[in-house]
Amino acid sequence: MKSILITGCNRGLGLGMIKVLVGLGNNQPAHIFATCRNKDKAVELLALAQQHSNLHVIELDVTDFSKQQDVLFKDISDVVKDQGLNVLVNNAGIAAKFTRLGLLKPEQMTDHFLVNVTAPLMLTKTMLPLLKKASEANSAAPLGSSRAAIVNVSSIMGSIEDNTQGGFHPYRCSKAALNAATRSLSIDLKGDKIIATAMHPGWVKTDMGGSNAPLEVGAATAGIIQFIQSLGEAHNGGFFEYTGKAIKW
Ligand code: NDP
Repeated sequence: MKSILITGCNRGLGLGMIKVLVGLGNNQPAHIFATCRNKDKAVELLALAQQHSNLHVIELDVTDFSKQQDVLFKDISDVVKDQGLNVLVNNAGIAAKFTRLGLLKPEQMTDHFLVNVTAPLMLTKTMLPLLKKASEANSAAPLGSSRAAIVNVSSIMGSIEDNTQGGFHPYRCSKAALNAATRSLSIDLKGDKIIATAMHPGWVKTDMGGSNAPLEVGAATAGIIQFIQSLGEAHNGGFFEYTGKAIKW
């Protein structure tokens, strides 16, 4: 892949993915676009950008839809030009704790849907012209990340089949909805040779995953980037763990 955009790169898996990408040496993408909500707080990310001129840091709250179009799209277009954008990783997300039914508040549901479902879908819509350009510019390449791909960072918690514990209503419902959106995108964009896949990144030690998670950020994100590089037609419209193992909906 020549270019990739990842949201939510201030910390956690987003920052981890950026670290893996800039560590790829000669194999790193020509352009890595990393968004964060507040540059003043993104100290580590900005330090990386100072060392790697191909890393572009752009401020974005993913729920700011006019900024997606007016700033992010424009900034990326100016850099990639006719080559377009190969990969969009919708990573930014929120997760409330267990959220028993008795304590559930309506705004928890709407907040999770806004950040975890509406924002990735609208960002996909915004970036579509650039994804199409990349797909056309690389028409000799196989389907996948060297052509054009959307990776929606989902969660096993969005699997209805896997849910034996209950609770987590806002998070589970939002990730299940993101999965549904991913399947629709895979069908909608098939003709453009753009693939869309939902990926569970593993249970990882981040602010969201917590300290009991078995996976370190470095190991998980190395696997996630390998998964993105290995994407092909078989992944279109599917739900996978970062190891490549298929997950039941
Ligand atoms: P963290 O809580 O560590 O980081 C979340 C990131 O999302 C932060 O960079 C945060 O920005 C950003 N973010 C949240 N809301 C917005 C917003 N409105 N606009 C822009 N950015 C926003 O989470 P993880 O890194 O662990 O999670 C990343 C993704 O992986 C999420 O989609 C999550 O659901 C998924 N996931 C994680 C698992 C885990 O075990 N860690 C397991 C399964 C899925 P800021 O720093 O400014 O707050």
